[in-house]
Amino acid sequence: MGQSTATLELKKGRDKPVRNRHPWIFSGAIATIAGGSPEPGDVVDICDSKRRWLARGYYNPRSQIVARIITWQQSEEINSDFWNNRIRQAIDNRISLGFEPATTAYRLINAESDGLPGLIVDRYDEFLVLQFLTLGTDRRRELLTNALVMNAEPAGIVERSDAKIRKREGLSLVSELRYGASPPAGLTILENRMKFDVDLFKGQKTGLYLDQRDNRKAVCGRIFVEAREVLNVFSYTGGFSVYAAHNGATSITNIDVSADALEGAKRNMGLNGFDRPQDEYITGNAFEILRRYRDSGRQFDVVILDPPKFAHQRSDINAACRGYKDLNWLALRILRPGGLLATFSCSGLISADLFQKVVFGAAIDARRQVQIMKHLGHSPDHPVSITFPESAYLKGFLCRVH
Ligand code: SAH
Repeated sequence: MGQSTATLELKKGRDKPVRNRHPWIFSGAIATIAGGSPEPGDVVDICDSKRRWLARGYYNPRSQIVARIITWQQSEEINSDFWNNRIRQAIDNRISLGFEPATTAYRLINAESDGLPGLIVDRYDEFLVLQFLTLGTDRRRELLTNALVMNAEPAGIVERSDAKIRKREGLSLVSELRYGASPPAGLTILENRMKFDVDLFKGQKTGLYLDQRDNRKAVCGRIFVEAREVLNVFSYTGGFSVYAAHNGATSITNIDVSADALEGAKRNMGLNGFDRPQDEYITGNAFEILRRYRDSGRQFDVVILDPPKFAHQRSDINAACRGYKDLNWLALRILRPGGLLATFSCSGLISADLFQKVVFGAAIDARRQVQIMKHLGHSPDHPVSITFPESAYLKGFLCRVH
């Protein structure tokens, strides 16, 4: 594994995305492989049909995405300094955001958008959680881990390479301690000075949904939740709820299909000193529970909808839109006049425009008047490279509903 002399030659007319710095080369774009037979994970050159050099990336013949580009600069050599510099730059950018000390959990490396395809690294206080999502990063696990140790000086690193997309790269799922000390099962981190308990080995994603940090603050601000009844649908460990309690919500109802997640939500409330016997924690399918509320006439002032990804591939888009529409329609039916709906989609395949159309359809069918007050997206530690819009997966609207 390393630098190969091989060059992937693209078919005629398939060079434009590469010139526009999109980092993925699909198998269908390749005409031939010249100058050698690269091993999976090797760095290869990419050229157009006239053999003009375009970029350099790492190769995986087992994936639909046969190469992921890591540089468009011909003079740039891919050695340990290269990886180290990319990692250093991503970390420096995060430090410049000034999260600490109020926030001690944030994304350090956001894969393609930080010039490091397939590498996700989140900081949780003294610990890091990393994901090698591609064969190219998996094969460089030692080198990348060492670079992280050097640049971020963590007490320990947990590998959570258990995302299903690894299977599309021909990789198995891994979840284990990769370096240093093991984090405690209940590690406490701070987010905007609020405390959250996180299990870095068993939590969803890398432990918390760090991408929603700014939205939790925006949606659950005092002006919106004080003295109001809040329904947090798909609550996970109560991210939005802790903010809502902090800002004086009268009652908070949490719904999640995972009983463990709801236990975590209760713990997080306690950790922040809230003793709220009026709050509810309901384990079950959100669609069924919302339908029950609609039938029984139960109403809320604020409804938060943060469902899991509905569209995993293109063929899911229609069904996903129906799911989002159903969900938003139900939420609109149980909101009091003048209430707030915070609605999200984390499906990368569903654009903000399409999602807005879905909410529009739900509003028409529910006969409610909906005003978008704010467009919502990722927190700034999840930057989106302008040449890789696919990484803008999270979108949402904060709406007033009459
Ligand atoms: N808002 C949360 C993150 C939500 S992630 C936060 O800020 O931390 C989506 C959650 O939806 C997960 O916790 C998952 O367990 C839950 N979930 C998935 N399908 C569900 C369903 N059909 N009904 C209820 N909850 C569901």
